[in-house]
Amino acid sequence: MEESIRDILGRDDGGGEVTVRGWLRTARHAKNLSFLEVSDGSCFAGIQVVAGPECPDFEDEVRGLGTGCAVEATGELVDSPGKGQRFEIHASQVTLVGGVEDDYPLQKKRHGFEFLRTIAHLRPRTNSLGAVLRVRDAATRAIHDFFHDRGFVQLHSPVITLSDAEGAGDMFRVSTFEPGQVPVDEAGEVDWKQDFFDAPTFLTVSGQLEAEIGALALSRVYTFGPTFRAENSNTSRHLAEFWMVEPEVAFCELVGLADLAEDFLKSVFRQVGEQCEDDLAFFNERIDDSVLETLEHVVEEPFGRITYSEAVEILEKSGREFEFPVSWGADLQSEHERFLTEEHFKRPLIVTGYPKDIKAFYMYRNDDQRTVAAMDVLVPRIGEIIGGSQREHRLDTLKKRIAEQGLPEEEYWWYLDLRRYGSVPHSGFGLGFERLVQFMTGMANIRDVIPFPRVPGNAEF
Ligand code: ATP
Ligand code: MN
Repeated sequence: MEESIRDILGRDDGGGEVTVRGWLRTARHAKNLSFLEVSDGSCFAGIQVVAGPECPDFEDEVRGLGTGCAVEATGELVDSPGKGQRFEIHASQVTLVGGVEDDYPLQKKRHGFEFLRTIAHLRPRTNSLGAVLRVRDAATRAIHDFFHDRGFVQLHSPVITLSDAEGAGDMFRVSTFEPGQVPVDEAGEVDWKQDFFDAPTFLTVSGQLEAEIGALALSRVYTFGPTFRAENSNTSRHLAEFWMVEPEVAFCELVGLADLAEDFLKSVFRQVGEQCEDDLAFFNERIDDSVLETLEHVVEEPFGRITYSEAVEILEKSGREFEFPVSWGADLQSEHERFLTEEHFKRPLIVTGYPKDIKAFYMYRNDDQRTVAAMDVLVPRIGEIIGGSQREHRLDTLKKRIAEQGLPEEEYWWYLDLRRYGSVPHSGFGLGFERLVQFMTGMANIRDVIPFPRVPGNAEF
């Protein structure tokens, strides 16, 4: 493989002949020289190619190049006199590889994000989406590194599952029935026995329950995969298809889990900060001028830690008029979460000990009988970025909780088995990967931090 522009720009010294291949971000044709900014997506920066009449086909080919053209350029790598660029290429040859028709939608330098969403097939060529995709990649690697450095095993949880095990939200059905030809039984009900899996099946909303299976054999596991929620929420923080990271740890209680979550975010931020300096500088300059400060803050400062009850007290005493009223027993709304983390504590915050009635059945019931060992990590601008808990590992208590929530115990037979055979305290959390990327980049809408957003009404690209 040839050197990428990233490799070339990373050299200590210029000199020698290089070849770059990529797409023109801009082309400026001056009197006897053409200035072509070539980008290959390997890094934020492009490289400037300066071409003159000594290039073959200068008049009939090079002079006609414009934004979006795919080119191959060869020439001498020299120190650049220009500001903000280390090297440029003095071309001996520039070849057009793929031309651009007149209606190329990215002619203009800057477009609104909303417009760019309608051309998801071209938007990775913009500065912002290119930077987002590199940050996603760096964050992915940082996540795998973090867990592998600590002896975690990646577990591949299934995408197709039998039930809404977690009660986490509306699910997408998976079926091979033909619409209009769905078989019914004698009672007139849909006969799922004739469907592909002999039962109703859905796309997963979380890999947690399967991760628990893994943790109770391999001690430390994590999943990192796509997750689906058919919730009709058109917000800037919800997607119908998103990626989740879910570590699960045996012999670990809530405090250990909170420590893991804090170490995890610090480590991922540090590594991405080191690897994506230019991309993050761009976000800081163009998208949100608190990006770099926030990054440093997350890495350097200890997170705040409070209980849900303390959070409610702070909110009640804040004197703030919230849209949703605050009272012990009600779930924290996004506005409450943001007040706590942005204004009161001014740092990421771990809230623990939520009322049991607003949390899932599998969370460990505390001795007070009314709260569970749940944990949410809240961050400025986003609110909840991580949700987790110590799991209920006591068979009797778990059965009681399943009954209390009106869930069918038989469907959880294997989950209950884990409590009957060698049960141990264990804990885990789920991180919404896109919310992490949103937080790191300052991008306001979650649809702009995933290459192909799936939201109500749109799955085109
Ligand atoms: P929220 O209240 O924000 O909808 P949740 O309580 O439904 O979140 P969990 O079920 O705990 O979230 O999922 C774990 C993590 O997955 C959340 O902390 C969040 O980061 C992320 N997440 C949840 N739903 C979505 C979604 N629709 N799109 C993107 N990320 C999501
Ligand atoms: Mn939700």
